[in-house]
Amino acid sequence: MKVFNAMEPLVAEAINENWSEYSLPCKCEQCKNDVFALTLNNLTPRYVSKDNGVAYVRAQYFNKQMMANIYVKIAEAVNIVGKNPQCENVKRS
Ligand SMILES: [Zn+2]
Repeated sequence: MKVFNAMEPLVAEAINENWSEYSLPCKCEQCKNDVFALTLNNLTPRYVSKDNGVAYVRAQYFNKQMMANIYVKIAEAVNIVGKNPQCENVKRS
């Protein structure tokens, strides 16, 4: 069986596009993945069968309301990761 969470590519794209603008103490790959994971955890997943592809997902789910919701969740995740980074670069003992 092949399914994936349609939110993944949309969230990944949104984070990548705006990554330089987020104010985070560290912007390494680990912190980016933390933001990515947190955002996905806070969004309702939309599972689709892989055969439908990302183009289908986009057509189906890509609208202003949904993107606005995604951006809100990303901002929340950035906030949380910014306050409590899990990576080695900023971890203090
Ligand atoms: Zn980091």
